[in-house]
Amino acid sequence: MANTVQGIRGMNDVLPADAHRWAFFEDTVQRWVRGYGYQAIRMPILERTELFVRSIGEVTDIVEKEMYTFTDELNGEQLTLRPEGTASCVRAVIEHNLLYPGPQRLWYWGPMFRHERPQKGRYRQFHQVGIEALGFAGPDIDVEHIVMCARLWRALGLDGIKLELNSLGSADARARYRTKLVAYLERHAGELDADALRRMHTNPLRVLDSKNPAMQPLIAAAPRLADDLDEASAQAFAALQDSLRAAGLAFSINPRLVRGLDYYNGTVFEWVTDRLGAQGTVCAGGRYDGLVEQIGGKSAPACGFAMGVERLLALMADSGVDVAEPAPDVYLVRQGVAAVRRGEQVAEQLRDAGLAVVLHCGGGSFKSQMKKADGSGARYAVILGDDEVQAGVLSVKPLRMGQGQEQLRVALSQACEIIKSR
Ligand code: ATP
Ligand code: MG
Repeated sequence: MANTVQGIRGMNDVLPADAHRWAFFEDTVQRWVRGYGYQAIRMPILERTELFVRSIGEVTDIVEKEMYTFTDELNGEQLTLRPEGTASCVRAVIEHNLLYPGPQRLWYWGPMFRHERPQKGRYRQFHQVGIEALGFAGPDIDVEHIVMCARLWRALGLDGIKLELNSLGSADARARYRTKLVAYLERHAGELDADALRRMHTNPLRVLDSKNPAMQPLIAAAPRLADDLDEASAQAFAALQDSLRAAGLAFSINPRLVRGLDYYNGTVFEWVTDRLGAQGTVCAGGRYDGLVEQIGGKSAPACGFAMGVERLLALMADSGVDVAEPAPDVYLVRQGVAAVRRGEQVAEQLRDAGLAVVLHCGGGSFKSQMKKADGSGARYAVILGDDEVQAGVLSVKPLRMGQGQEQLRVALSQACEIIKSR
């Protein structure tokens, strides 16, 4: 295979054996967003690099080291494959003035790109479903988002995903906290890793987001943002917790939850599982009230979240959620010159009746065709030989066990009835 061209590391193919699980996930998500009145928006995969630098923040993992950025050789523009969807969505909303008539509930889904070290649950091309509510001040909408997530987990057959909450407070509250945190980090400079040392002054909150196990005790003992929360954020956070209790949703407060992107403020949350190893966060989000103005729009409150599709699919597989592989209703076997020709028409007529039909192509003996019919998973074989053509009938043979029927010779309309009735 020395001469084959290989795919790119960390960018996966979804093969037919798995595609139905993705389709089930997509269908479930479509029904779910419709149930909450969210409208779809689709953004391009490429954006100007500046969009992500301005929104996600210069001193973040994503912007510092994970973005696929290149110069468009034709016009010299700096472009980036989107690492997430919120920035693009907000850019599109501003550009098309979507907030003019009022607040918007939006959703999207698609591939995102981050140059990370590939491992289980962490890829360079991965997929997110994103939900954004723009123009809503909360906390009612924040409650809606969390309740929504819980419903989706149920619809996907998942349980045991735990909800963690924190509040990042207002910009002022964070500034006060920042001073305390920097003082603490400076006192412990000897225990910091290279990333933390570098970020201690540029973006100290990000130190709390470190994935380095060696840093965890130091992070656990750091001063807490919760002690410096401003009144408005504290009230919104308390109201959100009351509503979640009323909705019967369990949660825990994680004071170290700061999110890896700069645009968040106020309530933030993550849904985590202990069943996926180190990559346990399946969904994350929160408020980003400053972002619309930050990238050039008229100030508007907003919040949203994104979930990792690959991680949720892995969790479904781990939980034994069984997604039935869709099988055709009919495999049409045809042999003989007249039957081969007639087969095309019969297949179309069966499809007119709403049946899914695989028409045998490529010739071969009756026996080998029947083998293919069996292997296709179809519920019925419809058999067309020259004598059936002459008699104007079809032979209908049930293929799956437990159908308890004999092979029948019937007219086409009757064949449709039999196949549709079981
Ligand atoms: P992590 O802490 O795992 O790096 P993150 O904070 O960078 O995640 P977000 O930017 O919040 O992730 O993205 C939302 C969700 O998208 C994550 O919770 C995760 O489920 C998924 N996700 C993020 N990066 C990847 C990736 N490289 N591969 C697969 N899924 C990912
Ligand atoms: Mg990350």
